[in-house]
Amino acid sequence: MTKITVAKGDGIGPEIMEATLKIILAAGAKIEIEEIEVGEKVYLAGNTSGISKESWDIIRKNKVFLKAPITTPQGGGYKSLNVTTRKFLGLYSNVRPCRSLHPFVKTKHPVMDIVIIRENEEDLYAGIEHQQTDEVVQCLKLISRPGCEKIVRYAFEYAKQYNRKKVTCFTKDNIMKQTDGLFHQVFDEIAKEYPQIENEHWIIDIGAAKMADTPEAFDVIVMPNLYGDVLSDVAAQITGSVGLAGSANIGEECAMFEAIHGSAPRRAGQNSANPSGLLQGAIMMLTHLGQTDVAEKVQNAWLKTIEDGVHTYDIFKEGTSKQKVGTREFADAVIANLGKKPTMLNSVSYSKGTTLKLPTYKRKAAAKKELVGVDVFVHWNGTSPDELAKMVKKMEHHDIQLSMITNRGIKVYPDGFPETFCTDHWRCRFKPSDGKGISKNDIIQLLANAERENIDTIKTENLYAFDGKPAFSLGQGQ
Ligand code: NAD
Repeated sequence: MTKITVAKGDGIGPEIMEATLKIILAAGAKIEIEEIEVGEKVYLAGNTSGISKESWDIIRKNKVFLKAPITTPQGGGYKSLNVTTRKFLGLYSNVRPCRSLHPFVKTKHPVMDIVIIRENEEDLYAGIEHQQTDEVVQCLKLISRPGCEKIVRYAFEYAKQYNRKKVTCFTKDNIMKQTDGLFHQVFDEIAKEYPQIENEHWIIDIGAAKMADTPEAFDVIVMPNLYGDVLSDVAAQITGSVGLAGSANIGEECAMFEAIHGSAPRRAGQNSANPSGLLQGAIMMLTHLGQTDVAEKVQNAWLKTIEDGVHTYDIFKEGTSKQKVGTREFADAVIANLGKKPTMLNSVSYSKGTTLKLPTYKRKAAAKKELVGVDVFVHWNGTSPDELAKMVKKMEHHDIQLSMITNRGIKVYPDGFPETFCTDHWRCRFKPSDGKGISKNDIIQLLANAERENIDTIKTENLYAFDGKPAFSLGQGQ
């Protein structure tokens, strides 16, 4: 018996949770339920995170959390409980299986069975944003080696345990050579450890187009946070209904399982909502708990129910569907099918004990890190890069000289194009003319010179070489 935390949520939450729990308990899930209150009531009682400290303690103690959708009140600085939970509990992996149920649920893609594995903690979602000049704001995209290793390894382990044949990686490393480049590099490194699983990498733009057009060409797809956020919704939508998908958020210690849809407040209390999304979340929870026999039984009974044409309003279609049912009746139909398998749709078979146990991250030996220059960012309202160059050259110190100026990444000095549009945000790169390293004191001196010359420096970014390899981007056009 495993104790789990359950939150019934808002809107249709309580109804779909009741249906879900009824089904999995009828199937023999060995769980004990500890309920907490999260969401609208907690927000409106003045807690901007939508969850109390006591509830956090319960979630952390039980480690497994089944959560119904909640309503985030509009305005008023309320924080998304989902984002907070993922970050606080270190739920680095978001897993979303997207499978077509053709011909029972209408879809343009009858053959589709993909799993999107999205990195959940870093990338642009670190939420580090600053306004730096009148015209320019920035958001820091942070990608870490441990972050990449954990998610990529998770994707391969997932593929191994669920008998998946291929793992695809999506990045945009032709442009973001450092950040997406690291994700891709780690993917290539870890893929070698799984020779029995096919691997491939696609540039995200054409990969996404291919996924939306020919999803049957993909199996498991792993990607950084932002791409995964967008494409997991696309993938769920093109199966025919977002209402049927669940997701798992997995960390080293804790895990959270849910439907991907929201609380559908207008449908609340009508016994009409489809509990399938949350049920899919609960099935993933059961496999996570190692109760794979129960998970398999529920999944096959659910597939059989869909195949029988017993449908809630959202997927009901005259001709294909046989019976339009409410939330409770749908749950009862699934329960009546426990022990049965679908005949047209592929039944599932989960191997025993599928709790994924990943090795903990081991930090590698530090590389030789050398400071080889500095980018000084300057707020300047002028328009001529040559004029700015004349000014910032006054910052030069010993043999550390201005080597280039870029505006939004595009080289505008030396030899820029007059056509290039420039904002008030300039990156001035300083490097030693003799090609040797520089010191932090050199940078301090450059900045002191800038102060003396009334140059508005907004930030610096050190330029490093790791083990002799420059680890920063060139200016576009450089
Ligand atoms: P929604 O997913 O609640 O609803 C979108 C549409 O899908 C509606 O027409 C709804 O009736 C329908 N729908 C959703 N789930 C259904 C189900 N199980 N069965 C049948 N029909 C279903 O999205 P929304 O209307 O944009 O958001 C409503 C509230 O949910 C908002 O407060 C939002 O913040 C919240 N939300 C919560 C979560 C979460 O807790 N994970 C996720 C998304 C949205």
